[in-house]
Amino acid sequence: MSAGRPDILFPLFAGLETLAGVGPKTAKALPAIGIERPRDVLFTLPHAVVDRRRRDSLREVAPGEIATVEVTVLRHQPPIRKGLPYRVIVEDAEIAFQVVFFRGAPKWIEAQLPIGERRLLSGKVELYDNQYQMPHPDHILETDEAGNLGQFEPVYPLTAGVTQKTMAKASESALERVPEMAEWIDPALRAREGWPEFHAALAQAHRPLSLHEVAATAPARQRLAYDELFAHQVTLALARARVRRGKGRVNVGDGHLRSKVLAALPFRPTGAQARAMAEIADDMAQPVRMNRLLMGDVGSGKTLVALDALLVAVEAGGQGVMMAPTEILARQHLEGLKPMAEAAGVVLELLTGRDKGRDRQAKLDALASGDIQILVGTHAVFQDDVVFHDLRLSIIDEQHRFGVTQRLALAQKGQAVDVLVMTATPIPRSLSLAHYGDMDLSILDEKPPGRTPIKTALSATDRIDEVVAHLRGAIENGRQAYWVCPLVEESELVDMMAAEERFKHLRAVLGEGHVGLVHGQMAPEDKDRTMAQFAAGEIAVLVATTVIEVGVNVPNASIMVIERAEHFGLAQLHQLRGRVGRGDVASTCLLLYQPPLTETGRRRLEILRETEDGFRIAEEDLAMRGAGDVLGTAQSGLPRFRVADLERQSALMALAQSDARKLMHDDPTLSSERGQAVRVLLWLMGKDEAIRLISVG
Ligand code: ADP
Ligand code: MG
Repeated sequence: MSAGRPDILFPLFAGLETLAGVGPKTAKALPAIGIERPRDVLFTLPHAVVDRRRRDSLREVAPGEIATVEVTVLRHQPPIRKGLPYRVIVEDAEIAFQVVFFRGAPKWIEAQLPIGERRLLSGKVELYDNQYQMPHPDHILETDEAGNLGQFEPVYPLTAGVTQKTMAKASESALERVPEMAEWIDPALRAREGWPEFHAALAQAHRPLSLHEVAATAPARQRLAYDELFAHQVTLALARARVRRGKGRVNVGDGHLRSKVLAALPFRPTGAQARAMAEIADDMAQPVRMNRLLMGDVGSGKTLVALDALLVAVEAGGQGVMMAPTEILARQHLEGLKPMAEAAGVVLELLTGRDKGRDRQAKLDALASGDIQILVGTHAVFQDDVVFHDLRLSIIDEQHRFGVTQRLALAQKGQAVDVLVMTATPIPRSLSLAHYGDMDLSILDEKPPGRTPIKTALSATDRIDEVVAHLRGAIENGRQAYWVCPLVEESELVDMMAAEERFKHLRAVLGEGHVGLVHGQMAPEDKDRTMAQFAAGEIAVLVATTVIEVGVNVPNASIMVIERAEHFGLAQLHQLRGRVGRGDVASTCLLLYQPPLTETGRRRLEILRETEDGFRIAEEDLAMRGAGDVLGTAQSGLPRFRVADLERQSALMALAQSDARKLMHDDPTLSSERGQAVRVLLWLMGKDEAIRLISVG
């Protein structure tokens, strides 16, 4: 197999201008709809179809629909005064009707429709004053050109400077270039699903014969969606195999530390925690590297699961490290882990960018000698001079924004080290397969018992004075509150100013010393200082833009006010709400919105009132907004699928994942006949990075 893209695919990766009907101008316009190469044209499918089958009379179609009829031109009726349309009276097999032009030079109209001649007309039928008419036909053809008009016309997504005709021509031209390629789909699967071959599927998808054929359920569409998902899943499976191939270590503990921790706990692990702990311990015991994701809503008890995994590493005679995205979160992890670790007599330390000089050196020495068994910190733990005595497990917290490429880079930091990524952002199953298909998944889908539910309420912004009055009463009773300011403008600066306005307002009403402010433009030290004051109860109300970090824990804070809640994503609102409800007192979350709300806008906010289940919220969010929006495609590392619809075709994603993993198991070097075909698919789908992951032998 050559190292580069196979020659047979070159025509599909040539310049757009090489396609019929695409000139320099069109070629410049097409990238606006994601078309940069002929191959992109292939995967830009029509979303609708126009029925241009011939009728005897336009009476056969309902007003508002398209009719295609042959007519005789009877007479012309130019406008009798300015502002009136030009009418041409024509006659089909049954009735006479008017062709109406609101614009167009009379000369041109006369030439198009000469009196006494036969023409084929196709256009939308209207009923006006009980008279049939066809304003501005889409097509006026001489009868001997009629063959040029197909029976069904695909409707493509367009952009300025690109017409349906251009798209149709370009896709015909691109279709002609599709080379002979061996089948990459498992033949049994294709037979079972009744999918056409690749070339036939493309042809059918571009030349639909009914509305049914442009639906996501059409076999040709299913097949093409599958091709796309399968290519993505093979990429993830290759990444997964790459990590696992990296020589792993068998990390088995005898349980003596873990049992001490469990005995010291004032509670019993939930079923979900027990299951996740067992899955992780089993995985760590394998001779391959662990590459696992622990997904659990805020408050689902990830800390205990993480500690349990770290203790496996320690019991096995090694060390573990846990990395958090910020200083504050790292400290909080330390505080959460330390009492439990001490119960087992395990040495835990913190290392962040703040450690300097002799203290830092002392920590590094203790790490190198193995005296520190568990290290918690920021990315400072991965600096070059941080050397472990025997690192067995890396835990990376709250990194749902990482794509597969970044995860690979992190995994390469420690050789043979098991990796556990933790995320507090539940995402729907179909998306987790798309996003984390290279990892194994442990899910905490059960909350610890005995939590007081958070009361969630909606209120219009014009009642803000009442809200502030309530807040005043609450803080007099020793309660603390977050006040999140809206993310309305594109610019962070404008958002910051809105937050500053609110800060001044609340300070004026509630008293100088009671209110603090944090926003993204602040120096990290100032931000940390204010957060620490809030955590210590020195200030009662924390005004913030969305920089309140995901995992920040201030148990005494029991009120969350979110302004202009309608501008936030559901998952984000859920995350923000998760900042409260951590202590003993009942908590409230108040969602302030600017009326009027749209129907979906109201529905979205009501879901939050109905449930605290992050997985359910994520499913509803996906159903309402679509995949790209849920994760924020740009930062999520999730590829944009052109054909596949993650929401309606989620079963295909699961199928693609199991098929890809099976293929990787049977043919890890992709050298079988099918493996070779899959390589071509990867090139075709632009998965160049995947090709580099294929093992050489
Ligand atoms: P997460 O990190 O997933 O947001 P934490 O690990 O911080 O959640 O746990 C949230 C709270 O629930 C902590 O106060 C923790 O002590 C408590 N907790 C964890 N597991 C259980 C359990 N099985 N039963 C009761 N409380 C638990
Ligand atoms: Mg946590």
